Amino acid sequence: MSREKIISQSSTGAEDEQYNAALRPRSLDECIGMTELIEKLSISVTAARDRDEPMEHVMLHGPPGLGKTTLAYVIAHEMGSAIKVSSGPALTRPSDLIGILTNLERGDVLFIDEIHRLPASVEEYIYPAMEEFKVDFVVDSGMHSRTINLPLKPFTLIGATTRAGLLSPPLRTRFGIAHHLEFWPVEDLLARARMTAKMLEVPYDEPALEMLAARARGTPRIANRLLRRCRDYAQVKAAGRLTIETVEAALRLEGIDPLGLDELDRRFLRTIIGVYRGGPVGIEAVAATLGEETDTLVDVVEPFLLQAGLLARTRRGRLATTQAYEHLGEQPPADGDAGLFNNT
Ligand code: ADP
Repeated sequence: MSREKIISQSSTGAEDEQYNAALRPRSLDECIGMTELIEKLSISVTAARDRDEPMEHVMLHGPPGLGKTTLAYVIAHEMGSAIKVSSGPALTRPSDLIGILTNLERGDVLFIDEIHRLPASVEEYIYPAMEEFKVDFVVDSGMHSRTINLPLKPFTLIGATTRAGLLSPPLRTRFGIAHHLEFWPVEDLLARARMTAKMLEVPYDEPALEMLAARARGTPRIANRLLRRCRDYAQVKAAGRLTIETVEAALRLEGIDPLGLDELDRRFLRTIIGVYRGGPVGIEAVAATLGEETDTLVDVVEPFLLQAGLLARTRRGRLATTQAYEHLGEQPPADGDAGLFNNT
């Protein structure tokens, strides 16, 4: 079974994307949390505006659903510029990228999601574009070949990736600002849930939103999605108000446990515990047993389990921690078992 729609951190369709767009803050002031990053961006934006120059190139990395796309839109809004959106896998040929670059106006923001998946042949063209605002390309071949040098209007590239480790060093070093987005603390998720409830005009009891925020896997996109699910549940099964009882029942129906783990998270841990005796086990083996893509597990499932202390990543492979055994109600192996790893 693939990851449930409800919990998946990436967008799952047009409807979801529509909500995402509607719920995004527009300015830096409206952004919740991320204090250090917001401060850094606000200084850069102000300085660039004062100099009447585009802002430095920005690289944002971190698990899906934490706010990378949102920040790209916010930066464009703050700069008073237009934003063009693309992604690494969509730019398959150099001409795809060159087409976009040559159509940028002065000061525009180009957002490239999953930038680590840009083909090497395309990435080459990004370097001079970022550094000198130009593209060079060769037309014809053999005797008639010549290089055409196209000047570009100065722009800001905002790159996003779930895996900073997969970025090529030449690309990484060309960003003036690079920032890792962390999972959100519960109080920020609560603020996000309140904001969403207000925008969607859903009446709620405060403890109900606290429960929802605590189970949102540190991810604002998930907080938004859970809120919509709970709203539907409350509308159909109760009087429309989010109470502790309705939120608890709605989340139980969705298979979300008190730590915010969903079915795939639990199957992942159960596989390591049940099939591989707690590990260490290579991620490919776990992926094969689960019938899931390794990338999905690494990008979407593992980061939160690591952060929650339920999983450990060692050089010999993945290990379930004693906390994972306890959470799943499994008996941890006796002391001295090589696989056991206590995270406390
Ligand atoms: P990513 O691009 O990292 O996958 P998004 O930018 O799409 O994540 O964020 C998902 C959702 O989280 C957005 O639709 C928005 O509602 C919420 N969100 C993200 N960052 C913020 C923020 N700083 N303040 C308030 N809400 C945010």
